[in-house]
Amino acid sequence: MRVGLGQDTHRLVAGRPLVLGGVRIAYEKGLEGHSDADVVLHAVADALLGAAALGDIGEHFPDTDPKWKDADSGRLLDEVLAMVAAARWSPVNLDVTIHAEAPKLGPYKAEIRSNLARRLGLEQGAVNVKAKTGERVGPIGRGEAIAVDAVVLLQPARA
Ligand code: MG
Repeated sequence: MRVGLGQDTHRLVAGRPLVLGGVRIAYEKGLEGHSDADVVLHAVADALLGAAALGDIGEHFPDTDPKWKDADSGRLLDEVLAMVAAARWSPVNLDVTIHAEAPKLGPYKAEIRSNLARRLGLEQGAVNVKAKTGERVGPIGRGEAIAVDAVVLLQPARA
């Protein structure tokens, strides 16, 4: 078994859509970034790369590459999953914490969870999504950014 840790932070700005775990969230701000800035999928992708000892998404998907401009981060995650499968690893479970002062993510957690489970080929019971505020402290608490922690476990892929 192999465990991997992923972390990502993006700034909240006006005039951008907010997409978390592939789910469009109704909010007056969105995340700044080269791609669609889906901070959840980026942290999950880095956790997968970490567990497989395959580096990080910055190496594999440079933000200077026009291919990823405003791109759906689901495509990036699919490429990472293909790299992990090629290295003969397969996901066992995933745990994600989203740090956001606003908007309230309770109504979206189930959809984000099922989206992540489908993308990783896992049952819902092997995926967990938590949401925490920043307790009004620091950049998260002031609503300036959203950050995500993700942990994934891999097992050897069956032949
Ligand atoms: Mg990112």
